[in-house]
Amino acid sequence: MVETTITPAVLILLGPPGAGKGTQARMLEKAFGLIQLSTGDLLRAAVSEGTSAGLAAKSVMEAGGLVSDGIVLAILKDRMAKPDVKAGIILDGFPRTDAQAAALDALLNEEGQKVSAAISLDVDDEAMIDRIAGRFTCAGCGEGYHDTHKQTAKAGVCDKCGGTDFKRRADDNAETARERLKAYHAQTAPLIAHYSKLGVLEATDAMGPIASVASALRTIVARATA
Ligand SMILES: [Zn+2]
Repeated sequence: MVETTITPAVLILLGPPGAGKGTQARMLEKAFGLIQLSTGDLLRAAVSEGTSAGLAAKSVMEAGGLVSDGIVLAILKDRMAKPDVKAGIILDGFPRTDAQAAALDALLNEEGQKVSAAISLDVDDEAMIDRIAGRFTCAGCGEGYHDTHKQTAKAGVCDKCGGTDFKRRADDNAETARERLKAYHAQTAPLIAHYSKLGVLEATDAMGPIASVASALRTIVARATA
């Protein structure tokens, strides 16, 4: 039988802070004509458009509550019905729980769709901690440096602007980085299990250069959407 309609791809990107998820998602958007949807963006757009799900979300948020999975899914469903979602979507930050993953499956199933691939950007935790903990920037021009991987040519002097004032973010330390990774793994484990069971889990090493990670991702996405 000949396919007459293109089923939009549904991709889920999983990756800890610092793994380059945002950068990679933007490159995938360009390469495949996909649209990246984060929960925050979805909510903001639905609220400003004043859709019924958006208004429901607005009243919950104004009351200081958490928007329910049902409302988020209703907003996602509306968004996916828009004409710009031809090639498909990349979900970032949703689902976060096994219950949300199951609800997303059910929603897609109603439309005769399913998750094309859940891609985990895998990092080496210790290397990631080292990467984050050593970061500092020039206070004058914002140029980024690293204690071991990208030192200034002349100690204490910015290569770019000659400035001598540098700053570190308070949360760029090993302890905070380790906590964040721990929280990420705890939160993601059920999702990894969920998508593994569905046979759509893909993993790629996210520690290499941006271009090689991007190339590996393109291969995965091309296969998942073929
Ligand atoms: Zn500088």
